[in-house]
Formats: sequence, structure tokens, C-alpha cells
Amino acid sequence: MNQEQTLAAVLNSDELPTLPTVASEIITLTAREDTTLVDIGNLVSKDTALSAKILKVSNSAFYSFPQQISSINQAVSILGINAVRSLVLSFSFLTMKAGKKKGHFNFENFWKHSLARAVASKLILERVKGANTEEIFVCGLLQNLGELILARTFAEEYEEVLKKINAGQYDALNAEEEVFGTIHSIIGYEVGKNWGFPEVLLLPIRYHHDPASYKGGDPKIEATTKALYLSDLLIGILYSNKPEEFHKRFSQEAKSLLGLKNADVEHILNEVHTQVDQAGEYFGLRIKNTKSIQEILQEANVRLSLMNLDFDQMNQELIKATIKLENLTKELEAKNKILANLANMDGLTEIYNHRYFQNTLENEIDRAIRNSAQLSLLLIDIDHFKKFNDTYGHLVGDFVLKEFSKLLKENIRKYDTLARYGGEEFTVILPDTNAEEALAVAEKLRETVENTIFKDNREEYHITASFGVASVRPATIDHFHKSDLISQADEALYEAKEGGRNQAVIYTAKKKWFKF
Ligand code: GH3
Ligand code: MG
Ligand code: MG
Repeated sequence: MNQEQTLAAVLNSDELPTLPTVASEIITLTAREDTTLVDIGNLVSKDTALSAKILKVSNSAFYSFPQQISSINQAVSILGINAVRSLVLSFSFLTMKAGKKKGHFNFENFWKHSLARAVASKLILERVKGANTEEIFVCGLLQNLGELILARTFAEEYEEVLKKINAGQYDALNAEEEVFGTIHSIIGYEVGKNWGFPEVLLLPIRYHHDPASYKGGDPKIEATTKALYLSDLLIGILYSNKPEEFHKRFSQEAKSLLGLKNADVEHILNEVHTQVDQAGEYFGLRIKNTKSIQEILQEANVRLSLMNLDFDQMNQELIKATIKLENLTKELEAKNKILANLANMDGLTEIYNHRYFQNTLENEIDRAIRNSAQLSLLLIDIDHFKKFNDTYGHLVGDFVLKEFSKLLKENIRKYDTLARYGGEEFTVILPDTNAEEALAVAEKLRETVENTIFKDNREEYHITASFGVASVRPATIDHFHKSDLISQADEALYEAKEGGRNQAVIYTAKKKWFKF
């Protein structure tokens, strides 16, 4: 739809509300130059219900006149023609019913918020020195009339507008422009013109979203327009979900647009909620316990810090989850490695098995040949282990075999290879290690075993072990085979057993055993 089509549809729609007789007559009357106060008084007095309402407001804190006003004629002479017209229009609109078409547009809220806008506009303009505030209330009340008209005339299309606003991609004006090719301030202006509204009402409605574009030069209209614009920001503090943003903008723009001082701004911010509640009472709308701006801002502040807290917590959870994932990945990698190595591992002791030992010894000999390096081998046999099993049982024997393996592993270098040779026999390949060093390693291990107390949850156990050591520089020997080294270590081990066990013996070619 473009603006022209929308306007034509609005003005011809049977949804366009007709003004109550008193309202339209007062507009006609006040437009004439020869109208007297008495004419106005007589017109309003014809509607007794309306007269009662006007008298009630006239005598309320809303106007705070010092003397009691007891008749409409008196009200007209004290308040002035324009103020009475303003009241008549306000009451007329506030008692207007929703149209026939049903939609999501909330008419009750619309009028509540409009009344709050009226109060806010009045409160703002009253702080401007020399400003004429006779019509500000009704201007404030009707500034968004176009919104109501659009929602009544185009219930379905207006749903689109609400959807766009709710989706957060459009503000109200852009959404209206998109759907209707025009905005509510233009619609309100055109409809008001159709009803014969005077310019003092029409132009502020027309320009309230963009006061700078009013170029008419009438200072009263200019100030009223700016007050309407500011009331929108002030109401934003009360009813939007971004109160801090509106508070900041209102405080700044009230000063720059209308030259208000800090004290004026403070006064407006402090007063608005009570005055909105009071106006609700005078105009018969159910508005109660409007929160003070201070309270709203405090709540927003708490919400903001809660949101931050949530964010921090969320962040922490994320970090935890990431760490957990990293650990899981590491664990998985380790497990995969173990799985890949399973064929090489001994099931009971979780050290390498005999097969792996044989392969590794072959590789290490090859490497030692390439590097002309010395290589040593330990064969380790637990002493009297048969008897140990007989004494404590096979399960305890298994336990000790596991603990023994762990102990050996803890006491060798990273690049030494420990394996279970079979039964209670173990072996360690010591690359780049000469005989003397190897014997020292064996002795250190022997001593460690001797001094270790193996403890399960029942008892403490002691064992000893015998060590056979062999050392070779394979590059210097023709056709050297790994079994040669194993045999030598085995011979040395046999010697250690023979020599009384719990000792380390190194094999020498001349069969002169060297023992610790
Ligand atoms: P020695 O000092 O001469 O080595 O005496 P020993 O009793 O340790 O030697 P022997 O070879 O006669 O007996 C080895 C024992 O080791 C027999 C067996 O019960 C025990 N053994 C071998 N493998 C395991 C095992 O996996 N678990 C348990 N609990 N015992 C084992
Ligand atoms: Mg043994
Ligand atoms: Mg044995």
C-alpha cells in the first residue's frame, strides 16, 4: 500500500470512529470567531455526564485552582475555551469503544499509554517558561491517534506491523512505513483534519516524531510538538523494555530541545508516575501503581547485572565443557594407544610382553650396530616365588607381580624397555648403556625391591629378586644375535641364584662372574 491508498481507505472506512456530537460541535464552535464563553458553556452543559466529569477534573489537583468551580460556565471562564475543548475531546476519545474487527491491538493499553503520554507532555511543557499549556494534554492524548485508526481500519495488516516490531527488525515507524506506505502521525493528522481539528492540535500530531521538520514558525506549536516528542521518550522509560536507553535520551534531549535544566528533568522524572495514576482516576481508566522511574531503572540495573552474571556463568560452563572435552580426547587418545598396543602388552602387569621384548631387542641391537653403541640387558627373577604363592595364595602373588612391575618401571629411564619375560621373570633393555652402568642399574633395582614393602589391605609383603646382567657392543661381533645376549643374561641370572639370590651378577666372556 502507498500513502494515498492508505489514506483513501482510512477516510472512507466505516471503521473510522465518528466523533460524539458534543466533541464535533465544540470543534465547530471554537473555530468560529464570534463564539462566546456562554456558547461553549451551554453546549457542554447539554451533556450532563460529560459536564460532571469536566467539573470533577476542574476541581482536582490536575488543575489545582484555589477556588471551587461549581458550574460549567464558571469552568469555561476560569479554564478558558481551549482548555474546555481539550477536556471535552479527551473525555470523548477516552470513552470511545474498540471497533468491530478483532485483532491483537490492545485498545485498553493504547488509551492507558495515551493518557500517560498526555500527562507526560503536560508535565514537560509546564517546565518551559511562558509556554501555553491549554492544549498540551489533548495533543499528548491524541498524538498516536493514527495508530488506533490504522489498527481499526486494517486489523490484518496491522498484525503485520506488530509482528515486524516484535521480531525486532523494525521500529514502529519503519514497520508502518513498510506495510502502509505512511506513518501514524500522518494518518492522525489527516483524520483530525477531516474532523475539523484546529491547527494547534493537528500540527503537533503531524510532527511529533520529527519536531525539526515543522517549519511553521508558531512558537506555541513548536514547543507543543517538542513536548510530544519528548513525552514519547519519557513513556519509553515507563513501558518499554529498554528503560535505561530512553532515560538517557530523555535527559539529554529535554535539555537540548526545550532548554530544560537538570532540576526540571529531575522533577519530571520524579512526578510522572503519580500523575499518571491520578489522571487514570480522573479520566476513569484503570491505571494503578505505576512504578516510579527510579524503581524501574533500579530493576533494569539488577536485570543487567544478572544477565552479566548469567553470561559469566555460561562462560565458565563453556570453559569447563571444553576442558572436559579436551580431557576426554586425551583419554581417548591414550586408550586408543593402549588398544593399539594391546597385542604388545602383558594382561596382568600392564607392561610389555615377551613378543614386544623380542622385537624391541632386535631393533635396539640394529640401532646399536648402526651407532657402534653399547647395549645392556637385565633378566630379573623373583626369588622363591613358588613359596610366596604357597604362603599367601595366587591372588596375592598376582598383586605383588603387578606392584613389582610398577616399581621397576618407576626406577628405570624413559627409553629403557621393561617387559615381562614370563611368569615371575622380567627383563629390561638398556640402550646406550655399558656393563658398569648396567650393573649399577641392576643393583639399584635389587636394593629398591629389597627395601620395598608391598601392602594390600590385609598385610605387608617382602620379596627379593635376582638379576642377571649382560652387556655388548654388537658392532664389534660378527653375526651377533639377540639370543646370544639373552643367554648371557640368563647365565648371569643363574649364577645369581646359585650365589644365594637377592643379588646382581654380570656376565663376562671369561666366565669370571662379577657380583655385587
Ligand atoms: P627361584 O628363587 O629359584 O626363582 O624360586 P621360584 O619359586 O621363584 O622359582 P620357580 O620357577 O620354581 O617357580 C616360579 C613360580 O612363580 C611358580 C609360579 O607359581 C609363580 N608364578 C609364575 N607366574 C605367575 C603368575 O602369573 N601369578 C602368580 N601368582 N604366580 C606366578
Ligand atoms: Mg623365581
Ligand atoms: Mg622362575
